[in-house]
Amino acid sequence: MADDLTPTIELSTTRVPDDERAALIADPGFGRTFTDHMVTATWTNGQGWHSAAVRPYGPLQLDPATSVLHYGQAIFEGFKAYGHADGSVFTFRPEANAARFQRSAARMALPKLPAEAFVALADELIRTDRAWVPTGGEKSLYLRPFMLGTEVGLGVRPSAEATFVVIASPAGAYFAGGLKPVSIWLSEEFSRAAQGGTGAAKCAGNYAASLIAQQEAIANGCDQVAFVDSVERRWVEELGGMNLFFVYDDGSLVTPELTGSILEGVTRDAILTLAGEMGHKVEERRLDIDEWREGVASGRIVEVFACGTAAVVTPVGRLRWRGGEVSTGTAATGEADTGPVTEAVRAALLDVQLGRAEDTHGWLHRVC
Ligand SMILES: *Cc1c(COP(=O)(O)O)cnc(C)c1O
Repeated sequence: MADDLTPTIELSTTRVPDDERAALIADPGFGRTFTDHMVTATWTNGQGWHSAAVRPYGPLQLDPATSVLHYGQAIFEGFKAYGHADGSVFTFRPEANAARFQRSAARMALPKLPAEAFVALADELIRTDRAWVPTGGEKSLYLRPFMLGTEVGLGVRPSAEATFVVIASPAGAYFAGGLKPVSIWLSEEFSRAAQGGTGAAKCAGNYAASLIAQQEAIANGCDQVAFVDSVERRWVEELGGMNLFFVYDDGSLVTPELTGSILEGVTRDAILTLAGEMGHKVEERRLDIDEWREGVASGRIVEVFACGTAAVVTPVGRLRWRGGEVSTGTAATGEADTGPVTEAVRAALLDVQLGRAEDTHGWLHRVC
């Protein structure tokens, strides 16, 4: 069971030409284009990790009886590499993603990938595709590590083989149209996660479970969906893929406490630290949907924002449910502006990530 995760390197002979790549990086959107290479590694029960490689980006070949296609053993991560003004490239807290990847794997009965290898293999991919790291503005190279059960066969049991893959994609603004407040639909019928379920794991199935509610949000004129707990159906949890923060009129920040059905965001964690240092009282506690509705209506809640790696910090404007809605801030148009605390938290986080402020927490990891 000796793991060997030292990658072989096979360089692509069909790289995207320089001018084409420059055009793609100039307006990347989110998750639309991918770099020239990817990382793959295999785990086999009894043998451990082996066959690590950086190789040309391309399709994975899967037998139709591959277990993940039937039973859904699949997890993923997301973090970003930032090109700094001096030409260096840093990732933001990749060890935190590596640790969460291990927790997700444990929950889904997938093998543990050593944290050092998670970070080192992503570094190797970033260095190989360094030309794809955007610089300037708020652009970054988004890293998407994932793992899937790849044993062939229909027996229902933890897969005896797993494949680890890392792909990379230049990223601009997550939401097309810039930093506009998102409107939120309250899902009263569907749950994203249940007590004892997989809500705290970053597994593919959680997203599959959230998509119908997201469709409902769009059908009701909203951008995103908010989920409440699945037992009492009143405690605010999170959006389909982002954590939530509430800013009160006394300057304090509240985010729902981790209950096992909420995904522990690295961005959430960084904001708890940064906002505290900015002089805000920060609280992790339960908050129910009435506190959100009545707080916004009475003015006690002055700002709401969502956070996650992909969209960083995004203001929340309207909250709508079957039978009503409330809007944060100046609601003349039904859409609030970005509030001052949301803006300050967003700037503080981006300043560290982009190398514009000192990294006093050791959050940046130098890649090259
Ligand atoms: C990934 C994710 C988040 C945000 O986590 P970050 O580490 O901040 O990117 C929040 N909620 C869900 C459901 C997620 O999958």
